[in-house]
Amino acid sequence: MFVVALIGGVGALLHACRADRWLDDLATGTDEGKSRPRSTTTATGAPSAPGPKGGPARGGGGKPADASVHLALGIPTDDDPSDDHLMRKPQYALSYNADQNVANWVSWQIDASWFGDAPRHKGKFMTDPELPSGIYRVTHDDYTGSGYDRGHMVRSEERTRSPEDNKVTFLMTNILPQYHDLNAGPWLRLEEHCENLGRKQGKQLFVMAGGILKRGKKATKTIGKGVAVPDTFFKIVVVLDPREGPGDVTESTPVIAVLMPNKEGIMDEGWEKYRTTVDEIERRTGYDFLTAVDEDVQAEIEAKKGD
Ligand code: MN
Ligand code: MN
Repeated sequence: MFVVALIGGVGALLHACRADRWLDDLATGTDEGKSRPRSTTTATGAPSAPGPKGGPARGGGGKPADASVHLALGIPTDDDPSDDHLMRKPQYALSYNADQNVANWVSWQIDASWFGDAPRHKGKFMTDPELPSGIYRVTHDDYTGSGYDRGHMVRSEERTRSPEDNKVTFLMTNILPQYHDLNAGPWLRLEEHCENLGRKQGKQLFVMAGGILKRGKKATKTIGKGVAVPDTFFKIVVVLDPREGPGDVTESTPVIAVLMPNKEGIMDEGWEKYRTTVDEIERRTGYDFLTAVDEDVQAEIEAKKGD
């Protein structure tokens, strides 16, 4: 289909972009397609010995993975591709919804290498120059005076290896309207948990996040020039070890799934109370996530709520 055809050409395109560790793996990997022994994690959560090299070539029976590391666990797909404009950046990937003027989902990889001491971008958030000319480019000022924060999906602190990486998190395609109490409350708590896992514990995380949008309809609540305000946000975090890919996901791979209300009064709440299943997020969003993961494994981990 369209998406499959697209993927073919994207590898070459991405190679023209900034070299990415994952692409290095792809370029040098010789064991694509071969079955790889599973790495183990110690009970203390300490990273195991580095796993075997190998690109995200293919999940164990799932759909083919993507050349972008950010889509290594698969491209989230629903049954209506007409409102999915797929964008791949060196720092993250996303599906943009031109009817709602926000992303359907943003997907990104986190490991310690993304963290550094680059300063937080100063100044206004930026329109995304990579949106096609026919799509409205949301501006910083669409949110001004709305009462909502410009809520990052990929957190600014998660891209501090270079000033450029950090700046790209301030593109409006990475932003959705969040009440400050969510943005600076449980949403931030989970971001801090992810920073701890990726930066301090040396894990590799695959994260997908966005808002629950009214599918196929105009948003009931908007700000600025028609920017949809979701009343609920979701995030999925799959916790792997460095260099692991979709074929390394097992029934015991830790998965965090949350649905959080976009409302005031929750500033002091932790993220754990919002745990749900990936299945529930799939039901609410209409998207199938983790599509590159073996279907039997997918069924197992998507039904689990985690501890
Ligand atoms: Mn935030
Ligand atoms: Mn799925």
